Amino acid sequence: MRERFRRTALIKYYLKTIEIAMQAKQIHSFEFLPSVNEMLDKIEGGNIKTTIRAEIIRRELERLRRQITTGGIPLTSRSEAVKRVKANVQAQIRVLLETPLQRVVNATGVVLHTGLGRAPLGEHALQYLQNIACGYVNLEIDLERGRRGERLDLVNDYLTLLSGAQQSAVVNNNAAAVLLMLNSVANRREVIVSRGELIEIGGSFRLPDVMKKSGAKMVEIGTTNRTHLADYENAITSRTAAILLAHTSNYRIQGFTTKPAESDIIELAHHHNLPVLLDLGSGALINMESLGLPHETVVADAVARGFDLVSFSGDKLLGGVQAGIVVGKREYVNKLRKNPLMRVVRCDKLILSMLAFILSRYMVESGPPDIQTYRFLTRSRESLRKMANTVLTGLDDVAKRFFRVEILDSVAEAGSGSLPTETIPSVVLRIQCDKISEVKLAALFRQQDPPVVGYIRAGQFFLDLKAVADKELPFIVNALNRVAEAVASKRGK
Ligand SMILES: *Cc1c(COP(=O)(O)O)cnc(C)c1O
Repeated sequence: MRERFRRTALIKYYLKTIEIAMQAKQIHSFEFLPSVNEMLDKIEGGNIKTTIRAEIIRRELERLRRQITTGGIPLTSRSEAVKRVKANVQAQIRVLLETPLQRVVNATGVVLHTGLGRAPLGEHALQYLQNIACGYVNLEIDLERGRRGERLDLVNDYLTLLSGAQQSAVVNNNAAAVLLMLNSVANRREVIVSRGELIEIGGSFRLPDVMKKSGAKMVEIGTTNRTHLADYENAITSRTAAILLAHTSNYRIQGFTTKPAESDIIELAHHHNLPVLLDLGSGALINMESLGLPHETVVADAVARGFDLVSFSGDKLLGGVQAGIVVGKREYVNKLRKNPLMRVVRCDKLILSMLAFILSRYMVESGPPDIQTYRFLTRSRESLRKMANTVLTGLDDVAKRFFRVEILDSVAEAGSGSLPTETIPSVVLRIQCDKISEVKLAALFRQQDPPVVGYIRAGQFFLDLKAVADKELPFIVNALNRVAEAVASKRGK
């Protein structure tokens, strides 16, 4: 007992000594920190405003102070502190002057990668955008009659022709579209939804939460795996405003499951004069199987089945820009258009013009639309293998010495909950390096100019070519050579 007491006392004593030593180090570290004014003289900010430069320095000093307090960074001299602050502030100023968003190479194998901006637009879209963005446009002017127009009508013909619906509305994203749909038709009234469809999509879109914010009261029916038509029927009361169906984009319920045919739900709802809303998510405008891709519900098919409102994203399988599109019966879409919330979630000229441009690509006969997303999605393994070989021939001696690069068949994903749980043929470069870990390897590729974003699986680093444009191949070659160089220089050759 005494022995144990002595031991704890001893440990306490040592801990205290360490604490005192650390505090001393901290105090010293604080003493080394320069003042804002001192740093202002030492850092040139190009053209950046002095007040902004001073504020960046102040924030950097504060950050450093916090790091010292938490024991992260002890400083050993004034010059070290100055050097560190200077480097970080200069880097921040550089980023601010050039804007932090930069072009990256998507070698993740996820074509519609939310973190990388979902659908890429391609170069012909850019030429169009340049013309639109540089000046004024007929956003809300009816050029024929010289009167006030309606911006939503710029894309209405496209959307109604492509979907077979009577009317359309466009908002900032599909989450907003769902919110607007529910608020417009079911504010303070009930909406029936199956427990099997209470979805959460990446980026914190949770259907129950959106429903709550919309003012609609959610009436859950059925169970996670089984919902019957009678469940819908029994839930209908005088307070019911609509039935909502949600596309289970990113998962599949398998096994002992059942759900009623959509046509039966629609028939039931219409019998009770209720609209049926569909959150479709991806919103394919054309048949995916005809392009050799897995099945995905086509918007026009959903409309034809009798859904009253169908909502989907503009930057998933549609291949356009971030937008939420609602198509359906005029009576209901007009409720959305007249809702004051519409003004809150409306799109600007850049989005609407890009959407019009992308939709115009769908007007042509057969085949995949001339859109970057479909160029990527429909590329064959054969052409990807050719690209992979081009990369290999571009490797320099250092890269060949430090890396083992292999070409392997793989599967890519559409991403963003599109073409769920299905896979699409692709080709990867597997990059092995004995000298550094796969995590460091991935980080070095991300630090290239432009950054190359690959992925790690089972402890190995891969670059998938499905979403890499031909024009970007030199960037991959360059990244491989530069990263090899960095590995080599760290090893002293
Ligand atoms: C992606 C998705 C959403 C969210 O769409 P955003 O355009 O990202 O706002 C909502 N519902 C479903 C079913 C989806 O797949």
